[in-house]
Parts: sequence; C-alpha cells; structure tokens
Amino acid sequence: MNDLRAVAVWRDGAAVRVPADQPVVSAFDQGLGRGDGVFESVLVVDGGTPYLAAHLNRLAGSASLLDLADPGASAWEALLGAVRTGWPRDVEGACRLFLTRGLGEGAPPTALALLAPVPAETLRQRTEGISVVSLGIGVPAAFRATAPWLLGGAKTLSYAVNMAAQRHARSIGADDAVLTSLEGQLLEGPTSTVVWAAGGTLHTPPVETGILPGTTQARLFDRARQQGWPTAVTPGTVADLHAADGVWLLSGIRGPATVHTLDGVPRADAGLSARVRELAGR
Ligand code: PLP
Repeated sequence: MNDLRAVAVWRDGAAVRVPADQPVVSAFDQGLGRGDGVFESVLVVDGGTPYLAAHLNRLAGSASLLDLADPGASAWEALLGAVRTGWPRDVEGACRLFLTRGLGEGAPPTALALLAPVPAETLRQRTEGISVVSLGIGVPAAFRATAPWLLGGAKTLSYAVNMAAQRHARSIGADDAVLTSLEGQLLEGPTSTVVWAAGGTLHTPPVETGILPGTTQARLFDRARQQGWPTAVTPGTVADLHAADGVWLLSGIRGPATVHTLDGVPRADAGLSARVRELAGR
C-alpha cells in the first residue's frame, strides 16, 4: 500500500506533485519545530471528496485563529487534485491538508497535501466499534472560551497531547479516549467528537468548552433533524455516557465508531449505530 502515498506542495502559486519519499519542508519550518500550523483530514472515497467544503471552511477558521494566511479553497482544491491523480476509486484515502507558518517572520506559509490509504485498523474500528477510557485534561470546561491563546476550536498541528492520550488509552487496553474537563464534563476524543443518544435525542458537548467543531457531527445532526430525530447540545458527563442508549466517537476518516466498552464496562447496545452511520454517510 505504501506505493499509493502521494504528496503535493504549494510552490509559486501552483500545486506541485512531488515523490512521496522526498523531503518537501525546510528543517526550519515553524510547523516542524513548534507545531505552529493547522491541518485537516479529508476522506477520499469513490474517487471524490464529498465533505471537502466543510473541512475547507474549518481550515479557514483555524488559520484565522492562528493569524495564518490561508491560501484559499482554490489552492487546496488544486493540491487535492494533484494528490488524487491516479488514485484508485476502490481505495479509501485519508488526505491531510497542512498549513504551517513556514519559515516565519513574514515568509509565506507552507501548504501541502498528503494522501494515503485509510489504515486497516481505522476500518476495523469503524465496523467493529471501540473500547474507550475517560481521561481528564485538568482544564475547567468554561476556561478556554475566555483564553484565545489556548486556541480552542482550532485544529492545530500541536497534537502531541492528543496522540499521548491515545497511546495512554492503548497502554491500558482500550482503543481510544474521551477527554473530560476539570469538573468531569465531556469534551471530545483526541481525534473525534463525542455523540450520545438519550431520551430519544442525539447529544454532543458544547463547542464553548474549546473543543473542535466536528464536521461529521454537524452532518449527522443536520440529517438526523431532517428525518425527525431531535438533536441537542448538552454538557454531559461520563455517567451520561454509561446511561446512554448509544455512544459514538465521530470523525471524518473513521466515521461514527460505536463505543462498546467505556472505562472497562461493556455498554448495552440499543441498535442505533446503523442509523447513525447511514445518516453520517459512513
Ligand atoms: N475533535 C478533534 C480533536 C479532532 O481531531 C477531530 C478530527 O478531526 C474531531 C473532533 C472530529 O472532526 P471531524 O468530524 O471534522 O473529522
């Protein structure tokens, strides 16, 4: 599968495809040294990118929160077109769009796209579900809304903590984590949005807690409402997840992953996952 990887970089106003095994970023790039940049992960499926607009919209918002110059939708579309050339229709791809501060000090930002097959483990979790542990991040739920320097709501390249949370979850036998605030309020997964079903309604935590606004969650909620399934933004707790009729971690590449075990406790399955996956488009 490795020969399927593709890379394109934005150079002098054009998308340039480069061999996937060749370096494209300066060692002095601020994205590399400081994680100073933003990104998106976009699903490539059936030869297309059905949800691209929502990702480009969030990328523009993230760039604005970091005072980064976004090269704009047409540049990202050109980068995507360059990496998708020759991509087989029957292989699902994860396309990462990166925008970094480049060399800093007024130099142009670095913009690039990488495309690789969706990992087999991600596909397994999508179909078989996941076990999840709750992990605290020690920040009050209301704090990030008052602290723009914490970049709540931006999808930044500074994902070392998110990756460490997933490694910690795996080290204690789970697949993934649900992060909670100092008071125990639900926030999000390290790479996903938390959604649960209770009382005939789909719930998700408020973005005012500083979590990322999820594009998959937004799509699911829009379609659920259109079909008469009520939705709500609810400040829940882990106890709410234990009591729920269904719990999912949603993200663009994995789709809605059913949480079958939470903090070591198996969850009862009320059979809602097929509908959630259909509405989310995965
Ligand atoms: N929250 C975080 C921290 C994420 O990294 C992601 C994944 O990108 C999400 C939520 C879910 O967002 P989306 O559904 O747009 O992929």
